Amino acid sequence: MTTRYRHLIDGRWVDAEPAIENINPSDTSDVIGVAPAADAAVVGEAIAAASRAARGWAQSTPEERFLVLDAAGSELRARKDELGRLLAREEGKAVAEATAEVVRASQLLKFFAGEALRVGGEVIPSVRRGLTVEVTREPIGVVGIITPWNFPVAIPTWKIAPALAWGNAVVFKPAENTPAMAFELVDVLQRAGLPAGVLNLVYGKGSIVGAALVESPEVNGISFTGSAPVGRRIVAAAAAATTRVQAEMGGKNPLIVLDDASLPKAVEVAANGAFFSTGQRCTASSRLIVASSVHDEFVERLSRRMSEMRVGNALDPETVIGPVVDAAQLEQDLRYLRIAAEEGGAVTGGERVERATDGYFLSPALVTRTDNGMTVNREEVFGPVASVIRVDGYDEALAVANDTEFGLSAGICTTSLSAARHFVRHSSAGMVMVNAPTAGVDYHVPFGGAKGSSYGPKEQGTYAREFFTRVKTAYIDADG
Ligand code: NAD
Repeated sequence: MTTRYRHLIDGRWVDAEPAIENINPSDTSDVIGVAPAADAAVVGEAIAAASRAARGWAQSTPEERFLVLDAAGSELRARKDELGRLLAREEGKAVAEATAEVVRASQLLKFFAGEALRVGGEVIPSVRRGLTVEVTREPIGVVGIITPWNFPVAIPTWKIAPALAWGNAVVFKPAENTPAMAFELVDVLQRAGLPAGVLNLVYGKGSIVGAALVESPEVNGISFTGSAPVGRRIVAAAAAATTRVQAEMGGKNPLIVLDDASLPKAVEVAANGAFFSTGQRCTASSRLIVASSVHDEFVERLSRRMSEMRVGNALDPETVIGPVVDAAQLEQDLRYLRIAAEEGGAVTGGERVERATDGYFLSPALVTRTDNGMTVNREEVFGPVASVIRVDGYDEALAVANDTEFGLSAGICTTSLSAARHFVRHSSAGMVMVNAPTAGVDYHVPFGGAKGSSYGPKEQGTYAREFFTRVKTAYIDADG
């Protein structure tokens, strides 16, 4: 049965002309649902509802906010298998990973439920006699949240949960091709007891709904995750409107393998980082920078490992690599592989795979004989594609790793403590992994990159409050 998604505005589910089909990338005959496409007027209604609700929610007690987020977290965990299957069907990541993503959303809700209770402030003696200084945090007001499709429940949750925990109202605009998980998350939160208008959901195109959020003077903050070109445009528009903005964007994440690394471990780290979630992770290891003396053995072992990774329907429990998300992304992956070959790279894998259902299946691809100047090493592919860059030793590896406009995540496989510590210190990325995949993070610590990958305060953990709250400094003379 095809679900008809509706906007949520001011606590009411609002029906509208269906416009955007939600197609299962593992089986294109399966139309999961159909979502409306709002115009600027509908976005305006959602923003107005959020503005009206913001004041009351800002004055709710920490306990009230805790209870909503905690209950929503419990429901997601209880429904992880059902929602994991829906996520796999909608987005195409293997069902085990999709289920883990639902669990992650539940963990994020529980963490930020706790954060609602942990809001504190400071009392500081004034340098002037008779005065006391109080430093407190307040919600920023109405937050516009714009998200990509690749983590359709975790990313919206790591933005919406802190926004609500610290007393903000939200207008949420999910990616066009993952409306189902957006509905489920919002529905769970709404039923957990949010007052009308505190959380609003508006479906539609980025260029219309997203842009209307960014341009509205009633929106006090924009939290965006998505591609670098869109992110840069949003940051510029928000800055012009003096609206607070945070943007997490693409990556071209390096994984260094030194000659003293455990090769079985390095191969596992590379295979996981490059190809899990079909390589469609902003933190995916897309540049494997390998010391010359272990290069051939590493490539041989990784190629063998890749041939064991079963590509198929995301709902099949045997599947390791699900389909690419849609036809446009598939075409983009194949185009980058063609360019890599034209520029002198040797491509293995990266072939269309036939399965029982018609889906966007692509075998994992490894491009060897590349240098860091090639297009495949400069631009984000966002598919099951990794390239190998051969280097002489650590110094060259570090220089190559940092030679990119991006700076999201970076990794090193080595048994040398000094090389590992040096890399942690000198990597230009926001997140650094030692003998661990560049993708895959905890939910209670800061997340985010540097350079062209990120703009504004970090997400997740207690650090998320830097975006979702503003600081007030009060000077009080209690003697009147
Ligand atoms: P995208 O930039 O195409 O879209 C992201 C969101 O922005 C969508 O909701 C889209 O509708 C909206 N949008 C598009 N144009 C807009 C505009 N002009 N104004 C306002 N909003 C607009 O990205 P995508 O294809 O959905 O996701 C893949 C990208 O996301 C990759 O580049 C990936 O690296 C990145 N990503 C980054 C992180 C991170 O945390 N750094 C995490 C996941 C994904």
